[in-house]
Amino acid sequence: MNPKSQALFEAAQVVFPGGVNSPVRAFKSVGGTPRFIRSGSGPFLTDEDGNRYVDYVLSYGPLVLGHAHPVVVEAIRKAAGAGTSFGMPTAPSLELGRVIQKAMPSMEMLRFVNSGTEATMSVLRLARAFTGRDKILKFEGCYHGHADFLLVKAGSGVATLGLPDSPGVTPANTHDTLVTPYNDLSALQNLFAECGDELAAVIVEPVAGNMGLVPPDPGFLEGLRDLCDASKTLLIFDEVMTGFRVGPGGAQEIYGVRPDLTALGKVIGGGLPVGAYGGRRDVMEMVAPVGPMYQAGTLSGNPLAMAAGMATLETLGLDGHWESLHEYGKKLDEGLLAAAHQFDLPVVINRVGTMSGMYFLADRPHNWQQVSQANSAQFKIFFHAMLEHGVFLAPSPFEAAFISTAHDEEALEITLRAAQAAFKAVAEIGESAAQK
Ligand SMILES: *Cc1c(COP(=O)(O)O)cnc(C)c1O
Repeated sequence: MNPKSQALFEAAQVVFPGGVNSPVRAFKSVGGTPRFIRSGSGPFLTDEDGNRYVDYVLSYGPLVLGHAHPVVVEAIRKAAGAGTSFGMPTAPSLELGRVIQKAMPSMEMLRFVNSGTEATMSVLRLARAFTGRDKILKFEGCYHGHADFLLVKAGSGVATLGLPDSPGVTPANTHDTLVTPYNDLSALQNLFAECGDELAAVIVEPVAGNMGLVPPDPGFLEGLRDLCDASKTLLIFDEVMTGFRVGPGGAQEIYGVRPDLTALGKVIGGGLPVGAYGGRRDVMEMVAPVGPMYQAGTLSGNPLAMAAGMATLETLGLDGHWESLHEYGKKLDEGLLAAAHQFDLPVVINRVGTMSGMYFLADRPHNWQQVSQANSAQFKIFFHAMLEHGVFLAPSPFEAAFISTAHDEEALEITLRAAQAAFKAVAEIGESAAQK
């Protein structure tokens, strides 16, 4: 029952477009009423009607320690008491910068911004400034924030609204943005042969998390690195989602491919608005005030986000946390697959570290075209049944699922019990549809 969420959603639709401040929250692709959340604690959310859910959304990634982790809350409280923004440099920003550099040595210099969108937008401006080239390349189904020139075949959010891309983005905005399929090295080779020397940069999610979860095929990132080297094109890893999520050093550590530049966000802000971009020192020295590439921010590196980020990364780095995250992920996937197979449902799960994508598909997808074949009718039924049984998944078949260090035996048990009921509901609909 959710009468309070329903009343709030009705009222909110008068104030906010669709009742929300970010589109996927509106449940458009699954139908029904979005839950208004009152509070979160550990792996759980509580909505305004008092219903409790195991949360696999975790604010779309940032909350790797779960909700309201005491160390993070205390760090924010302490920072807030000392003033929230100064418009001057602070020691905590230096501290967090160093922690990030230690985890990702490719970030020889970096700059903090306020969102992932800002990070990718800025890092591409930088790549163009450094190379003196205009064109950039992105991959179909990868999302890099909502900057105009990046809203081309941008995966989950845009796709679930059924928009080809967004009106308001002019042909001139995207004129220099090229798009090619993910995991297709031969398409890449052809493209580089044609115009590699005009490309300022290639931006890629090294593990694609905005079309469910699609890992790079063996050799894909390495091949991309080689092509970029040969044509002096900068390689940018958008690790806004994967940073401190797929492993302690991001995808660049796991796959052993060093990007020229990296965009970060989400986890490094511990649940507060943040982003960062950085990489090769010679490239970063183009950034003002050292160089001429202008980029600024009133609240950039603000003490609250720095404190929350620092508390999060330090706590996450403690012994045993990554091991228990991997263990939870393994048990979760095994349990979900066992339940699906019990009802003869074709389901596959891709996982890298604390991120996963579950698809109602017979075969593992490698690109957006394959991802988009997943059965969305089955997902809808599954989503609502899970919600009803106390498990919150992202309301779209194309969003990744996340776990946190707070997810424990109780959370797992609730999840797998819910999954039994949810897969059963999916199977029953299939049968009744077949009988007709
Ligand atoms: C979330 C995300 C962004 C955008 O970050 P915001 O903070 O929402 O602006 C960019 N790139 C990737 C890969 C993301 O997952």
